[in-house]
Amino acid sequence: MITVECLACGRQFEVEPDILFLANRFHCSLCDALLEVIEEDPLILDVVEEAQLASEDEEDEDDEW
Ligand SMILES: [Zn+2]
Repeated sequence: MITVECLACGRQFEVEPDILFLANRFHCSLCDALLEVIEEDPLILDVVEEAQLASEDEEDEDDEW
C-alpha cells in the first residue's frame, strides 16, 4: 500500500500502488472525494469535480457506441 494525501480533506490514506497511474481516478477513503493522478513521479493528485464527472460519463458512453 502507498500513502497519499487527499487534496479535498487534507488527510492521508493508503491506496494500492497499481491504481496510481497517469489519469486514473479513485475515491478518497476518508471523505469520498474523487481524485485524479496528474503526475506519476513525483506523485501528484488533483480533485475531480463530481458534477463534471457525471456529465463526462454520459458523453463517453455515447461516443463509444
Ligand atoms: Zn479526502
